[in-house]
Amino acid sequence: MMKIGVVAVQGAFREHQRMLNQLGVDTIEIKRSQHLENLNGIVLPGGESTSIGKLMREYGLIEPIREMVQQGTPIFGTCAGMIVMAKTISSGEEPHLAVMDVTVSRNSFGRQKDSFEADLDMDVIGSTPFPAVFIRAPHIESVGENVRVLSRYQGRIVAVQEKHCLAISFHPELTDDSRIHQYFLEKIVQPSLQTVR
Ligand code: GLN
Repeated sequence: MMKIGVVAVQGAFREHQRMLNQLGVDTIEIKRSQHLENLNGIVLPGGESTSIGKLMREYGLIEPIREMVQQGTPIFGTCAGMIVMAKTISSGEEPHLAVMDVTVSRNSFGRQKDSFEADLDMDVIGSTPFPAVFIRAPHIESVGENVRVLSRYQGRIVAVQEKHCLAISFHPELTDDSRIHQYFLEKIVQPSLQTVR
């Protein structure tokens, strides 16, 4: 059985676990580095990126997770998780994991409404739009050459993939639509199991 670790220091980690469990995957809460053993993939939930980054540093999770991702472990970040994955944060804050070649801008959609839902086109999961929940969401300002843009909202990049790294601005774990989790498991985690690391 596939085993996915969900970083569980702050934020919406239980909702991700619920969705992954519904898809038949075993999950473990990552709170300390000993929880990183024998994982097939990692999920970084939404929440508050400064707190998540700070706690991950305190608990000694930054270096080992960065190393795992550099060695090929798939990782999927949502909202604050996307900020934690970015190599550059446009406000000039210190980056956290810094595993994705993107520049991210925080709280991009925060002002007009704190939380809203929008139908997003995302070809990789099919032609039916995804009901995306945005909560003080970030967007991607610019991407490196190996980063694939998977979706935009009002012209702004809100979903990206760079090899085995997937990051999105919104919260699929708060909906009943599991297509993005399925995409991560079937198109990113599953193929990575075939390559020897
Ligand atoms: N605004 C939060 C941040 O900057 C992200 C919000 C979220 O994860 N829903 O970290």
